[in-house]
Amino acid sequence: MTLNAYRKRRNFDATSEPKGRDRAAAEDSEPRIYAMQKHMSTRLHYDLRLQWRGVLLSWAVPRGPSLNPAVKRLALQTEDHPLEHASFEGVIPNGEYGAGTVLLWDRGTWQPENLNADGSLPEHEIKFTLHGTKLKGSWTLVHIRGMKGSGHRSTWLLVKHRDSYASMKNVTLGEARSVATRRFLSEIARDDGGDVARASLGDPPQAARRIAMAKPARPRSKRGQRA
Ligand code: MN
Repeated sequence: MTLNAYRKRRNFDATSEPKGRDRAAAEDSEPRIYAMQKHMSTRLHYDLRLQWRGVLLSWAVPRGPSLNPAVKRLALQTEDHPLEHASFEGVIPNGEYGAGTVLLWDRGTWQPENLNADGSLPEHEIKFTLHGTKLKGSWTLVHIRGMKGSGHRSTWLLVKHRDSYASMKNVTLGEARSVATRRFLSEIARDDGGDVARASLGDPPQAARRIAMAKPARPRSKRGQRA
């Protein structure tokens, strides 16, 4: 596990994302971090992050998670992220990798359910339990194509298992606010000097209308501020 790909893609003088500390795999301690970030970048997606051997394994889920076990959501594995990224929320400036607005949509801990005999994660089907604020219970990531670690994005499906947390509720629409700050995407963009109109495309329509009519707040972060 290495953060080289993560660091190569980013200019830490420009982005407020964390550079992160290198950790030995053995430093992993239970409970392991789980986070899901809603990211309005080139396209809206949800970034699933699971702590594993000193890094956050990462998948971009274009349509976000579904609580309905009959629904399979595409999940494209992306570069490992530093553990520090699990609490990141804010604006990534234009011209930077992942430029756009990031909302910390869910956070908590996770547990793998089906480790290999040597303690590694299964290559083809990872069964796991989430203990988040919004997502709970049993889930599966099924590997459908692409090689792990080949540099190409490998393709997975994220599926909810049938358990007491399975539901027909639309969790991405119904619980669109940040779990950390209760803000919508357009409010984070407004506060951190991002593109409010673009961020609002990722908010539920009613929230976007309300925020467009509200008075602008003073930016909280100097970092994303525009002159
Ligand atoms: Mn992303």
